[in-house]
Amino acid sequence: MDIQWFPGHMTKALREMQNNIKLVDLVIELLDSRVPMSSGNPELSKIAQGKQRLILLNKADMADEKITSAWIEYFKEKGIKAVAVDSRSTASKRTVKQAVDIVVKEKKERDLKRGIKGRPVRAMVVGIPNVGKSTFINCYSGRSSAKTGNMPGVTKGTQWIRLSGDLELLDTPGVLWPKFEDQVTGMHLAMTGAVRSEVLDMSDVAVNIISMLKENYPGKLGERYGCNEDNGSVEIFEEIASKRGCLRKGGVIDTDKTALIICDDMKNGRFGKISFESPSDIDQ
Ligand code: GDP
Repeated sequence: MDIQWFPGHMTKALREMQNNIKLVDLVIELLDSRVPMSSGNPELSKIAQGKQRLILLNKADMADEKITSAWIEYFKEKGIKAVAVDSRSTASKRTVKQAVDIVVKEKKERDLKRGIKGRPVRAMVVGIPNVGKSTFINCYSGRSSAKTGNMPGVTKGTQWIRLSGDLELLDTPGVLWPKFEDQVTGMHLAMTGAVRSEVLDMSDVAVNIISMLKENYPGKLGERYGCNEDNGSVEIFEEIASKRGCLRKGGVIDTDKTALIICDDMKNGRFGKISFESPSDIDQ
């Protein structure tokens, strides 16, 4: 899906979110487990100030489990509770419920001391496009389509989905935008297949996928394409092109077709569980 954000969109999305955030105690931030840095938005810390926060490392079924565990530790050190989930699976419901209970425990105790009893905790899901917000909300509501934050007028008649006796979820997610100005962010999001950037060339994205696999997941390229991983990334790209018959008349490589095969394989998890960003990449 192409994502185009203009300053007007961002202002509108931000305003809607600021209005909705006033209604909740807890902000549930969805990040893509494979790219937790690139799928986050630093603005959120400002918008969610004073609210409890829970991070769901979504699409954990597609990410490298060891690295996801390292991210959970990383956020824990920052004082933020994070858990790994696959929003499409109902098994995640319990994981989320338990995590929410931990995060809101203090608030509930404070409420009790003040004599406030039985007030449900209200939560809102936020995240960048394609991170899985609607999937997550639908999984809980049992409905087939969550309202999207981009639609005008959805804030009218706020609806709450009961997650459990004392936990309610706003059925409208907050849409954040990625840090487009950062080139690595755009590239990493494009590599996961969540964003098809207008600016990035697909063959660049494919060559970056090759380089990353070569370095971090040796053996995967050889396994899938039977290519020689000792070669350079561009050579491997060309090798895949010829092995997959992506050649035009005269033996010229069809770069678009080759890039599509590689990007599609990554998007559909055909290299196995892969993470693109690890806490050890962050400059301390
Ligand atoms: P939204 O734009 O944030 O609402 O994202 P969607 O809910 O529309 O999800 C975008 C895509 O990611 C869809 O194709 C979903 O099926 C897929 N998706 C969402 N959550 C998960 C997950 O936990 N695991 C996997 N493998 N795919 C997911």
